Amino acid sequence: MEAWELPVYSNLYLSKFNLVKGVKTLNEHQLIQEYFSEIGSAFLVEQGIRVPIGDDAAVISSPKGKESVISVDTSIGGVHFLESMHASDIAYRSVSVALSDLAACGATPAWFTLALSLKKYDPKWLSDFKKGLEDISAELKIPLIGGDTTKGNLSITVQVGGYVEAGKALTREGARIGDVIYVTGCIGAASSALDNLRGGNLTRLDKNRYLRPKIRFEVSSKLLDIASSAIDISDGLFQDLDHICKASKVGAVICLEKIPTFLSNSLTIDEINRGDDYEILFTSDKSKREKIKRIAKEENIPICEIGSINEGDEVDIFSPDGVFLKASSGYQHF
Ligand code: ADP
Ligand code: MG
Repeated sequence: MEAWELPVYSNLYLSKFNLVKGVKTLNEHQLIQEYFSEIGSAFLVEQGIRVPIGDDAAVISSPKGKESVISVDTSIGGVHFLESMHASDIAYRSVSVALSDLAACGATPAWFTLALSLKKYDPKWLSDFKKGLEDISAELKIPLIGGDTTKGNLSITVQVGGYVEAGKALTREGARIGDVIYVTGCIGAASSALDNLRGGNLTRLDKNRYLRPKIRFEVSSKLLDIASSAIDISDGLFQDLDHICKASKVGAVICLEKIPTFLSNSLTIDEINRGDDYEILFTSDKSKREKIKRIAKEENIPICEIGSINEGDEVDIFSPDGVFLKASSGYQHF
């Protein structure tokens, strides 16, 4: 354990934790105990967590006949969220965007870990942050099973784990020529919500779109025998579709006007490709059309056909009047 002593201002901690030589301190262990040790603990048994937070490592028993699906994502202030956001939303969003990769694989989430770097000890911020973790944990019945806490610039790394029936995970590489391309939900709403957030005029709807994205587990778990490939849209629809094309060694044709957007007027290619949508983009054989319509109806989530897979090696976009358009690149870190 790193020596990490922090000043404590609240009386609560004075009574609850030891004073070291008369100095009011809350060490790393006490901080973990206070803010992270109980999150989702009600779900430990059902998720097969035999040893939870507090030991050197978590011990998990895996369900028979399933494969583990694991992913990790780091969220940095100013890049993945605004530091001015409420700490509960920062927490919720950081876990949610990490979970999106599990949905893309058709997995059911089971647990998460958290490596957190904090500039300073701020009890109000931390208890708000804890609330956001509790919200997503309760929503998906996934416990927080471990992590690491350090001092440094605000950085939130969330690892997520889940399960999928053995051999059935959706990947980027199964798209076949002639497959139909689908997208869940609508595109562009989150990036527009981010503009509203920056401009200080966030609407109630924006809350879900950017601050608390809902991950499409209900739909993705039903796609296991239906989709030929899938990806979640984090960096931009066209860029993410290009990942499917490269991995599957195929091309794609997209009709711009078929892309479902949150406004009645259509968005430009750049607006569509801004990312942060956390919707599922997938391909499927034509014969599965009716099944996909049924899933959309059952889950009450729009699933739209936006194009098809061809023998090319890139993403071609056509405007409503048949003009060929070039996709801009989506979000790039470097
Ligand atoms: P070690 O030094 O052995 O890595 P730590 O003191 O870092 O142990 O962590 C003690 C326990 O608390 C471990 O079970 C670890 O997984 C958990 N933990 C530490 N930080 C966090 C965090 N931010 N969120 C969840 N669990 C945490
Ligand atoms: Mg550690």
